[in-house]
Parts: sequence; C-alpha cells; structure tokens
Amino acid sequence: MEIRKAKTQGFCFGVAITVKKAEEAIGERNDVTTLGHVVHNPQIVESLSSRGLRNASSVDEVDSGALFVRAHGLPVSVFQKAEEKGLEVIDATCPMVTKIHVQAERLKDEGYKIIVVGDPNHPEVRGTLSHVPGAWCIETVEDVAKLPRGSRVGVVVQSTYSRDRFTDIVKALTEKYYEVRAVNTICTDTNNRQNEALRLAKEVEVMVVVGGKTSANTKHLVELAETHGARSYHIEGPDELRAEWFDGVSIAGLMSGASTPGWLVDQVTARMEELGRRYA
Ligand code: SF4
Repeated sequence: MEIRKAKTQGFCFGVAITVKKAEEAIGERNDVTTLGHVVHNPQIVESLSSRGLRNASSVDEVDSGALFVRAHGLPVSVFQKAEEKGLEVIDATCPMVTKIHVQAERLKDEGYKIIVVGDPNHPEVRGTLSHVPGAWCIETVEDVAKLPRGSRVGVVVQSTYSRDRFTDIVKALTEKYYEVRAVNTICTDTNNRQNEALRLAKEVEVMVVVGGKTSANTKHLVELAETHGARSYHIEGPDELRAEWFDGVSIAGLMSGASTPGWLVDQVTARMEELGRRYA
C-alpha cells in the first residue's frame, strides 16, 4: 500500500509557539496555570501536565502565580480579572488570532455591525466576541436567515473554520444586507491544510486524519476529505488504526491537524506501513 502524506504536518506555528512558551514557563517556575487544555492534543496536554502545568476551568480558581494564555486567546474580562488578582500573565495567544481581534475592532470602529462566523462555544470565538461587544455570532448558512435586518455588516471568521462554508455564508449575507465587508481571517496554516485535503482526497481511497477529537481544524479536514471522495477516519494515535480499513486499498492518505506533533504523525505512518504490508 502506498501512503501519500500531506506536505503540511505537525504543529502549526501558533501551536508551536504556545507549546514552547509553556515548556519554558514550567521549566522556570512551578505555579503556572492554564484555563482549559493548552492545545487540542491529549498527548501534549498529558506531557505538560506531568511536568507541572496546572489546569483550571476558571480564573476564579487561580489565586496566585502565573496565568498561561494558550493560542486561542482568552476573553478580555479574564485578562482584566487576572490583573485585578495580581496574577502574572504569560500570553501565548497566536498572532493570527490577535489579528482577528484587530480586524473585528477596526470594522466596528468603521461603523459596521460585526458578525463573527464560527462555533460560539469555541474558546477562540468567545475571545473574539469579547473584543466586539454586541456582535452577532453565526455558525451555519441557515443562521443568516435568523439575523435581524440591518444595512452594513462587517464579518470575520474563526481561524480554523471551513473555507467552503465561510464562502457560502458570505454569499448568503450579500443577498440579505446592502453592504457586506468580509475579512477572511482563516489562518494560512488552516488554508494550506484544507487545500491539501482537497487535493489528496481525489488521489487516495482512504484518508487518515490525526488530531484531537475536540480539534475544530482536524474535524474540518475529515469532513473535507470525506465529501471529496475519500473514506476518512479521525484518530488521535496509532492504536486506533484498524487493519480492515486498508483491506484492498492501494493508496492511502495521511493528514494531521494543527496541534498534532510531528512525532505522532511518524508513529501513525509506521503503523500504517505495517498494516499496509498485510495487504501487499
Ligand atoms: S491554527 Fe492558525 S490561528 Fe490557530 S494556532 Fe495555528 S496558526 Fe494560529
């Protein structure tokens, strides 16, 4: 069995910065707390926590030490609370996420009603919404019909959102509103991975996508590959691979989400090669 791998593998640059900063922080001190999982990858979360990174669900639970801000960023109110409590903030918000905040604020200042496209429960989207109070958040093209009327809307999108879905939503908005100013804030890494998913899905019979089950960008890759012709599987590690997936398969594809480390992709590759040999 031949394995065709996407060119973009391993951590995106935002996750790489976050993991590096977290490792440096826990190497220097033992009172660092992050809110929620630092990245959408169980192996990395486990490794950092075993080396001392603490986890809390709210800033209310952190009374001292340093608050570590992961790549998704945090709502403005949490930064304010951390300051009030005298916590040191180690900010590893991805620069691409910060750029979304800046774009949304700029559009608001220019008088547009802001629409944030993305999952309203995702931490990145909650952070973005906190920068533009009163903004509307929509997740699907069907949500456009539920929005109130208006004339000028400014649109930004979650960094890891599906490009196809964003295009459909912007089109629906232009049919409803007189003026639509949309900024495509899907990050370059997500764009590259989605392009590769489209290309590879047409070449392979089966696609394996490695990434955390809660990772939005990984889920979109699985969905893209599946809808473009490749039977697709979302796994978190090599142990989840099943021999029968590759029965009769001559070309299999392999991709990974933005918070999947390179060494995990290597392990999955090795296991796929092993399973592929059974059907050679
Ligand atoms: S997926 Fe994009 S926005 Fe998110 S951390 Fe990576 S580079 Fe930054």
